[in-house]
Amino acid sequence: MTERIRYHVPFRTGREDAYIAEALAQGTVSGNGPFTKRAHGALEALTPGARVLLTHSCTAALEMSAMLLDLEPGDEVIVPSFAFTSTAAAFLRAGATVRFAEVVPETMCLDPAHVASLVGPKTRALVPIHYGGSPADLDALRAAAPGADLIEDAAQCIGATLNGQALGTFGRFGTLSFHETKNLHCGLGGALIVNEASDTERAEYVWERGTNRQQFFRGLVDKYTWVEVGSSFYPTELQAAFLLAQLEAEAENRDARTSIAAIYDRDIAPVARRAGALTPPKVAGARGNAHIWHLVLPTAEACERLRLGLAEQGIDAYTHYVPLHASPVGARIGYRLEDLPVTCSAAERLLRLPLHTSMTTDDVARVVEAVNTLLA
Ligand SMILES: *Cc1c(COP(=O)(O)O)cnc(C)c1O
Repeated sequence: MTERIRYHVPFRTGREDAYIAEALAQGTVSGNGPFTKRAHGALEALTPGARVLLTHSCTAALEMSAMLLDLEPGDEVIVPSFAFTSTAAAFLRAGATVRFAEVVPETMCLDPAHVASLVGPKTRALVPIHYGGSPADLDALRAAAPGADLIEDAAQCIGATLNGQALGTFGRFGTLSFHETKNLHCGLGGALIVNEASDTERAEYVWERGTNRQQFFRGLVDKYTWVEVGSSFYPTELQAAFLLAQLEAEAENRDARTSIAAIYDRDIAPVARRAGALTPPKVAGARGNAHIWHLVLPTAEACERLRLGLAEQGIDAYTHYVPLHASPVGARIGYRLEDLPVTCSAAERLLRLPLHTSMTTDDVARVVEAVNTLLA
């Protein structure tokens, strides 16, 4: 009996346990302690010039960015419909009107032309996702929505860069996820990347339940008080300790994933293209992190056939987001299925192949062989 090849196995470095033991030995683990500061340092080394704040999820980081925008009723935020729920929900919760935009099937990132058609006097922000750690077309998106703040949902982007600059550091805010389904994780976790110095003080208040406790710790005020409407956004020291071990292995994780993706690029992509499928884009100047290796097949039937064919051979392959505009919440805010046809079509044709650091050379070869046989 051949072993099942799982879609994802959470990364472990082996050093997490020692750091957690060290955190416990500190006596206090409620958060914003030594391991949080070390994790901030490790993240800020990857995002020069930015202030990074650990959060308990990317969802929390998106909510912080929405709170910091001071949205008013009627303000519009443009979000891809091909997205995770939180990408839209964070802005809905903050009182904005969410406008869903199409993606380009070649990248599965926001379509600048469709975004341009949605921009109006009430447009406040644009929230591109860098799908699979490969950059959205930020220049074209900025040109399409010149007055809007850019908030990069960089949930999938740890270690990914464009022209040497980390994804998540191009907009006003960027958000990272350290959920265990991502390249690096701490079970549940995330971070807010604050790219404008004028936002850092308020971001710290919002992060710390609306208090100026940070200034108190720095000796800038003699008691701390309530200065912003914030929330409880940071993780415990246990999460930060686990994450620090992972962040220290960022390059190792990225190298391992990238070498598997390179085999898929070399051995599957040509066969896939002959079968009329799209494969992950090669963007000039981009260094990816191989978060996802996917196919967009010519039809939904071909996609389902490939998924079932792989499942029969014990290989897990996954579709991805159900378009948000086509969900019950999408309907409640006025969307109909036919409003975003490109997104609906691409979403039902997309399949993600197994990609994780526990895959053996044999596992990778088995996936290549199975996919190519099924596509031939
Ligand atoms: C994973 C993910 C999220 C949510 O991250 P959590 O840390 O689970 O809140 C948001 N957006 C995108 C694009 C994601 O991939």
